[in-house]
Amino acid sequence: EEQEKRQQEKFVVSGRIARVIAHEVRNPLTNILLAVGQFRLEDALKEAEDSQLYLDIIERNCTRINQLVTELLQSTRMMELRLQEHPVNQLVNKALALAEDRLQLNGIQLITRLAGEHATVMADDEKMNIALLNILINAIEAMEPGQGVLTVSTEETEGKINIYITDNGAGIPEENKARLFDPFFTSKSKGTGLGLTSTQNIIINHRGNIDVDSTVGAGTQFTITLPRASAPLP
Ligand code: ADP
Ligand code: MG
Repeated sequence: EEQEKRQQEKFVVSGRIARVIAHEVRNPLTNILLAVGQFRLEDALKEAEDSQLYLDIIERNCTRINQLVTELLQSTRMMELRLQEHPVNQLVNKALALAEDRLQLNGIQLITRLAGEHATVMADDEKMNIALLNILINAIEAMEPGQGVLTVSTEETEGKINIYITDNGAGIPEENKARLFDPFFTSKSKGTGLGLTSTQNIIINHRGNIDVDSTVGAGTQFTITLPRASAPLP
């Protein structure tokens, strides 16, 4: 309970930060990106020595900050959900389709075990897509290229739908487990540390739950539990 409270305070803070950053950083950044990308600054600066190098640096850094802002906004609790009934498999398959390139590129074997079509949840499919994709991408990033096995299963119980995403990657050291969902916690040199924060937010907003089970050197399993969409009245 204490942890839940701490977590909520963090969301309030990150929500405030997100709003400031959105206005003060993102708009000018977008303008710069547009100028670099669309108005062919490159041509105008062709004469200048190293201009390409500098433009690349500007573009790379703008893109990086832009991505950070996007994820920061997603990570805040303020979100409006457009709920519709979806088969859980449809949500999972959509996320898997978006991860397909990365799976292939990294030579990862995919195993799916999916529940029946009547296993449905009330979900905002765009938000749920972000949530699932964040977990899939983390799994892909944790696995050794050519040796990865990703297992995705869905399961229906009486009142709930479970989604399991399992990898045989590096695993999560004990000391990191408590901080996994914290904003900006990352163990990657180019990570933002916002993926799991926004994923947890999205799941909680759907009245669901997310859990992790991991062993260093063996792999990691994320479990998402969502309320089952109530069956239509006869
Ligand atoms: P990022 O991916 O930008 O680092 P995330 O919030 O998505 O941020 O993840 C936070 C951290 O949790 C990662 O940096 C990594 O240390 C750990 N993590 C998440 N998923 C996995 C996984 N499947 N296997 C190992 N570590 C993971
Ligand atoms: Mg991530």
